[in-house]
Amino acid sequence: MPSTTPSYCGRFAPSPTGALHFGSLTAAVACYLDARANSGKWLVRMEDIDPPREVPGAADDILRTLEAFGFEWDDAVLYQSQRTAAYQAALEQLQQQGNIYPCGCSRKEIAQQGRPGAEGVIYPGTCRAGLPSEREARTARVFTPDPPICFIDSIQGKREQSVAQEVGDFILRRADGIFAYQLAVVVDDGWQGVTHIVRGADLLHSTPRQIYLQTLLNLPAPLYAHLPLAVDGIGNKLSKQARSLPVDRKTPLPALLAALRFLHQPLPDEQPATLDEFWQWASASWDIKRVPRRQTQTIAAGS
Ligand code: GLU
Repeated sequence: MPSTTPSYCGRFAPSPTGALHFGSLTAAVACYLDARANSGKWLVRMEDIDPPREVPGAADDILRTLEAFGFEWDDAVLYQSQRTAAYQAALEQLQQQGNIYPCGCSRKEIAQQGRPGAEGVIYPGTCRAGLPSEREARTARVFTPDPPICFIDSIQGKREQSVAQEVGDFILRRADGIFAYQLAVVVDDGWQGVTHIVRGADLLHSTPRQIYLQTLLNLPAPLYAHLPLAVDGIGNKLSKQARSLPVDRKTPLPALLAALRFLHQPLPDEQPATLDEFWQWASASWDIKRVPRRQTQTIAAGS
């Protein structure tokens, strides 16, 4: 009997910043197959909390593409735009616990005073000890811990990061009032009961921040697996913003097979006749251990 984990719940959480491209397709394929291979649930969450970055129509377009590729999700799609009350409640909890503080610094001030980090300037801590009296609060930041946060990624192996040293006190509510991705993702993964997160390695650096917030909010920590990110021949990430070629809804099978090849999964001897056949075959032969332990991978010509 195959070992089943009835409590497995996975998810695909695209931001509607453009059409699904080959890179996001590989992430969708991997998290879907991992859920199916473990007899788990699989959810789709639309991360539409950042209207300035969104492309009108992209959310529906992504869902139509997923349907055309034969993905089946087990619950209604959750839209982050409908969840602001939950993010507000989480922020209030953190405030009551003394985990966050108001910050009055502008981006320009931070750029002048902070040191460079892997994802932009590290906040220099100006408002940590209290908002200077002449300043107004612009953002809400969380106090970050010095001791490293460690986790074992199912693909990338052991990782550790001192969030204070490598990221700094990060923003949970932005100056425009929008809740930060880091907060929303943790609140929703917890609320939806997500147990396994399979996603692109561009989010590897964010994971310790998310584990830290889970601890503060008393949420269980899911298991993480970060896939190599598809890059083009000159090392640029394929992204919706960079207008990478969208996948074609009319010809799903070649793109799905290319995704399997990218993920170093075995390929069927003959091209499956139907999408059903493809998914049955692919979930029966899925093995996450075959996914290369790399953070980027060039897409093969013709993918
Ligand atoms: N919405 C994020 C993105 O499209 C992914 C979030 C996640 O998987 O945690 O990059």
